[in-house]
Amino acid sequence: MRAAIFNGPRDIVTMDRPDPVIRDASDAIVKVELACVCGSDLWYYRGESAHDHAGIGHEFIGTVETVGPAVTAVSVGDYVVAPFAFSDGTCPHCQAGFQTACPHGGFFGGNGQDGGQAERIRVPLADGTLVKVPGGARLDEATKRSLLALSDVMGTGHHAAVSARVVEGDTVAVVGDGAVGLCAVIAARRLGAARIIALSRNPVRQRLACEFGATDVVDARGDEAVQAVLALTDGVGVDAALECVGTNEAMTTAIAIARPGSTVGYVGVPHGIEVPVQTLFRRNVGIQGGSAPVRAYLPELLDDVLAGRIDPGRVFDAETDLEHIGEAYAAMDERRAIKSLVRVAA
Ligand SMILES: [Zn+2]
Repeated sequence: MRAAIFNGPRDIVTMDRPDPVIRDASDAIVKVELACVCGSDLWYYRGESAHDHAGIGHEFIGTVETVGPAVTAVSVGDYVVAPFAFSDGTCPHCQAGFQTACPHGGFFGGNGQDGGQAERIRVPLADGTLVKVPGGARLDEATKRSLLALSDVMGTGHHAAVSARVVEGDTVAVVGDGAVGLCAVIAARRLGAARIIALSRNPVRQRLACEFGATDVVDARGDEAVQAVLALTDGVGVDAALECVGTNEAMTTAIAIARPGSTVGYVGVPHGIEVPVQTLFRRNVGIQGGSAPVRAYLPELLDDVLAGRIDPGRVFDAETDLEHIGEAYAAMDERRAIKSLVRVAA
C-alpha cells in the first residue's frame, strides 16, 4: 500500500509499505477514504517535537476491510469514523468518558502505531474505538468532510466547551482560530451560548467563525485582545474561555478574560505553558481540559452531522491526494490553509 511517512522535518514522503495485518484478535483493518493533516502534526513537521521514521496522521474515515476474531461491534464493509486515540471502552477511565486516558489505549500515527495518512491502517481495540456511520460510503461529500472533522477537531473543540462548562445563555470567548478554535465556536453555539467572541486576526477565519455562530470578533492578540474582550463584557470577563492553541500567550489571554468563578477549557497541546497559580487563586478561575476524549463525544456529534445541524467539515479549505501530501502540510504550515484534507481513495 501507499502511506505517508515522516522522513524528517519538512519531509513527509509517500512510500510503499506492507499492508497492515491483524495482529491481535481485537484489531480491525480500515481502508481509508479520507484523511487530513492536524495542527498537532505540524509540531513534528516543524521539528519542534520528535517523530519516528514511520507512518503519521491520526484522523481518518473509511471502510472496515478485515476484523479480528474477537471484534463484534463492527463488521467488514462498515463505514467508520475513528477518533485519534484507540481505547478499550471497558476500563474505568473509558467508562467515565476519558478514553484518551485508557491504560490499554494509545494514539495513531507514532510510537509503533500505524498512521492514518495511508491507504490502510490497523486499528487496535476496534470494538472500543470505531464508530459505525449509518448510510456509510453513500453519504455526500459535505457530510463525509464533517465526519472526518469528528475524528479530532470537532470533538476537541467540543471538549474545550464541555471542560469550560458552557451552558445556555453564556458569554464565551474562543482563543485560537485554527480548525479546533473554529469547531469550538460550533460547540459553544451548540451548547447554547448566547454570545461567542472569536479572537482572530485573519479575515477568512473571522468570516467562518461568524458563520459558525460567533457574534463578536476581536481582531487582536495579547494584552490588546484582553482589553477588547473586557470592554465587550463591561469589564467582567467571559463565562467560559476556550483555549484552543496551546501556547503560553493563548493560555495567558484565556485566563485574563475569564470572569472570576469561571473555567478555562484548554485543549491545545501545551508547549511552554506556565500555569499562574497565584492568578488563578486570586480570581477563583479554574482550568480544565486535556487530550480530548473524542470517542466519548462521537455518537452525539455524529447524530448532529447526519441531521445537518452542524457542518464542521467546512474547516477543510485545501485538498491533495496522498501522493502530494507534502503540499497539504506546507499549506497549513504557511497558514495558507486552515486544514488540509487528504483524499486517499476515490
Ligand atoms: Zn479504557
